[in-house]
Amino acid sequence: MTHRNGFNGFNGSNGVIGFIGLGNMGGPMAANLATAGHTVTGYDLAPEALRRASRTENGVRPARSATEVAREADVVISMLPAGRHVLAAYADLLPAARPGTLFVDCSTIDVADARAAHDLAVHAGHRAVDAPVSGGVVGATAASLTFMVGAAEPDFEAARPVLEAMGRKVVHCGPPGAGQAAKICNNMILGISMIAVSEAFVLGESLGLSHQALYDVASTASGQCWALTTNCPVPGPVPTSPANRDYAAGFAAALMAKDLGLAAGAADAAGLPTELGRRAAQLYADFAQADDGAGLDFSAIITTLREDGK
Ligand code: NAD
Repeated sequence: MTHRNGFNGFNGSNGVIGFIGLGNMGGPMAANLATAGHTVTGYDLAPEALRRASRTENGVRPARSATEVAREADVVISMLPAGRHVLAAYADLLPAARPGTLFVDCSTIDVADARAAHDLAVHAGHRAVDAPVSGGVVGATAASLTFMVGAAEPDFEAARPVLEAMGRKVVHCGPPGAGQAAKICNNMILGISMIAVSEAFVLGESLGLSHQALYDVASTASGQCWALTTNCPVPGPVPTSPANRDYAAGFAAALMAKDLGLAAGAADAAGLPTELGRRAAQLYADFAQADDGAGLDFSAIITTLREDGK
């Protein structure tokens, strides 16, 4: 499909990419787009984030405002904290962008907000996809993210080459909002399964079972899962897991609490109990609010489960 200015779905390095939100995730993602040969114009409300992103070898061109980014971009990517930030940014970006601009929101936000953002963009004469990510700062830096995309087919195809410059896997999950739906459902599995694995280790400890023995059995039996074999919450069996470095994240407990809160909100809207998801949301929220919990890897939840038993 050919768009304005001969822009043909972003194959190669033609066209300008605007990037809004250059924080922990957006900064390295924008750098990877520039490394791949794209012209990237960026903006962040925080001057330091903007400076950092434009200072690196493959830096973004700093803009003075979001509207300046929108005016010259063929594709506008956003990587912002929450739905209210995305909707606020879109209020500035949409009227300034040229008709037919492709908006790609990679933030993790509420499904309802993602659909609202899509509808606002389309109403303003643009195209829009939601494309939240899995893989964290490590994946953002290494360009190995997984993108979960909610989009109409032609918009997905237009976004795909841009996303491929920042990630290893791009999955079309369905219509607008489906990317966010996949993200929160996956993280609900992860949040619950980490608690299940942690409870099993705590019970094993009290029964005199060594961590390694439980790991050797469960990792090759029906208890096998990512929370056990990659992000094991006790030190030892998986040397690369955050438990071996005092739970330095990794995937921060505050972000897990946020994602499970989004899952609970979506379950409310659907009238579903999702009992374990809600209990997990509460446990991570409590953990993230206590002491230094927010910044620790979510697998540190095992420390509170141990304390609860004392
Ligand atoms: P961050 O706080 O480091 O970065 C967000 C940036 O957005 C900040 O620099 C902030 O100044 C900027 N910002 C806010 N409103 C703005 C606006 N209107 N215009 C321009 N800039 C604005 O957050 P992060 O860790 O990069 O996370 C971003 C998103 O990615 C979140 O939705 C998060 O849930 C998701 N996510 C994060 C991780 C992770 O490991 N950090 C993993 C997966 C998904």
